[in-house]
Amino acid sequence: MKLSKKALSAQKSVTMEVNERFQSMVKEGKEVYNLCSGQLRFRPTPEFVQSMISQMNYLASFQYPSVQGNIDLRKKILNHYSNKRQVVLEENGFDVIVSNGSKHSLYNALGAILDPGDEVILLCPYWVSYPEMIQFWGAKPKIVDTYLYDSFSPSISRIEEAITDNTKAIIINSPNNPGGIYYGQEWMKQFSEMIKKYNELYIISDEVYDDIYYYDPGPTYFYQRDPELLERTIITNGISKSFSATGLRVGYCLARKEIIDAMTRIQSQTTSGTNSLIQRALADFNFDQLRDFHEEIREMLRELSIDLREIFRQANLSHCWYQTNSAYYFMLDFSRTEIYNEVSKGKEGDYSEEICELILEKIGVALVPGSSFGLKNSARLSLILEPMPFRNALEKLCQFLNNPT
Ligand code: PLP
Repeated sequence: MKLSKKALSAQKSVTMEVNERFQSMVKEGKEVYNLCSGQLRFRPTPEFVQSMISQMNYLASFQYPSVQGNIDLRKKILNHYSNKRQVVLEENGFDVIVSNGSKHSLYNALGAILDPGDEVILLCPYWVSYPEMIQFWGAKPKIVDTYLYDSFSPSISRIEEAITDNTKAIIINSPNNPGGIYYGQEWMKQFSEMIKKYNELYIISDEVYDDIYYYDPGPTYFYQRDPELLERTIITNGISKSFSATGLRVGYCLARKEIIDAMTRIQSQTTSGTNSLIQRALADFNFDQLRDFHEEIREMLRELSIDLREIFRQANLSHCWYQTNSAYYFMLDFSRTEIYNEVSKGKEGDYSEEICELILEKIGVALVPGSSFGLKNSARLSLILEPMPFRNALEKLCQFLNNPT
């Protein structure tokens, strides 16, 4: 009996694999530090938890939801987003679909616009799931390289060079996983100017980390200065990061009605609507109550990012450091460290996985190899632990990078 080619070609998420290896080391009683996870150790605000508890009293919370999403919640998301971004989304023909996480929204959005042979531009380092999702719909990812030296914000001309007659869309993820940066206002301005010339191209804006920044002014988006681009913009977001509720699996997409209708058709034949209880709790919740919660998260991330800079400086690894400002990640460049020299033995190649395995085995620090984000000889580390274990893990890591033998 054979499995399908699609199933056989689908890659298991590397982050999940590293997490599994990490969990088995925990069970073996080893001293380990998890710097590979994509979630904070915060619970959602008590007000939101209370909203969920209250909704348990109603029958509708346990019954099939509408495929496109709870109507009150959809209206709320549209208003909230219009106010937050200072753009008029409804007047631009926008609608909303609620999905089982923003990953699900992204998958459906790609399904709504891609045909086999189409190309989708990704800026490297990119989120692990984009290439897989694009390929699942029969299209091809086209990668634009970025570098640590320009803080992972690629030049606009390099993006433009990647556009061909087959390009259907470009995915922008700001704040960025795994870069830990958001693209600045000047970058967004130049991006708008360039993308205006290509009016057949969709722009997918993955904004799942938009509340998670710890240095002002915070992220802004191309369509805020050029609302004419909204016509071909698809925005995805969700509650995983902004509510710190990754396990509740609620995401959403805002786009023009015909795109949302196509996504709703795909969703209707696969998962149907999203968890009724959580949608009703969200519809009943005042999103402004998240302000203090976000402030607390920002303060913690700012402090951890300062610790990271200082520990790298003390270990004479400042040349591997760059200033992050958002999401909870930092891309660690191995290519100018002793561990790279030791593992590569002078031969060119990508040693991300070997180095990460060595780090996990020898000092119990779990990182995600950069190869899964398209970046050679690097790893993603997350700013997610309590300050003490975070510092311990980084000190051990830096020492090992300098003296791997
Ligand atoms: N986009 C990016 C860049 C992410 O890092 C993640 C999750 O880590 C997602 C989308 C998906 O988030 P969720 O499906 O939990 O909303």
